[in-house]
Amino acid sequence: MALDLVLLGPPGSGKGTQAAMLSQTYGIPAISTGDVLRAQVEAGTPLGQRVKAYLDRGELVPDSLVVDLIQHRLLDPDTQEGFILDGFPRTLPQAQALDTMLVALDRPLDAVLYLQVDPQAVRERLGQRHRGDDRQAIIDHRLDVYLEQTAPLISYYQAQGKLKLIDGAQPPEVVGASIADAIRSLAGSSNGSSRSPGRS
Ligand code: ADP
Repeated sequence: MALDLVLLGPPGSGKGTQAAMLSQTYGIPAISTGDVLRAQVEAGTPLGQRVKAYLDRGELVPDSLVVDLIQHRLLDPDTQEGFILDGFPRTLPQAQALDTMLVALDRPLDAVLYLQVDPQAVRERLGQRHRGDDRQAIIDHRLDVYLEQTAPLISYYQAQGKLKLIDGAQPPEVVGASIADAIRSLAGSSNGSSRSPGRS
């Protein structure tokens, strides 16, 4: 059985950290749209130049672009055993596109792990990072964009019965342990198969 997960939460909620830990534990790839987009910018491709303009302003890149990217990525053979999406979906149209893709692949999401951290705490965390788009005005804008465009996904996935609430304000190991509990609780809830850490 594959383990197909989405990590949801505001910028600075620790999605990247948890995605890396999950990837290690379960031997499945962590797919970060932010990383993929930044790699395009680094590579200096024409697409990268277009993407850079959005990143620099703290805007989301167009849905069609990230949907395309994820559609291709999910067909890579390393996703056979599962995947962890970090930073996708980020809008309702992206979430709907993902549902459509996964129906076609006959592999519905197992869970959406929502890392809940209050806005003031993430503001402080992001202010301590040193990425190009981590200047205060841009951070504030990214948080606004999150509240407007991404936060509605919380009720979208709640309605699907997929949402698992995780307290993201705790230290990374504690957050990791809550996620492990949530994944264990998936075992048996759908088809009786048990989840155990993968080969890696
Ligand atoms: P953070 O979680 O701190 O916002 P990310 O690396 O996830 O950092 O995202 C950085 C930027 O990449 C976003 O501000 C946005 O411009 C772009 N981005 C990432 N994922 C998406 C997505 N699914 N849709 C649109 N833009 C995205």
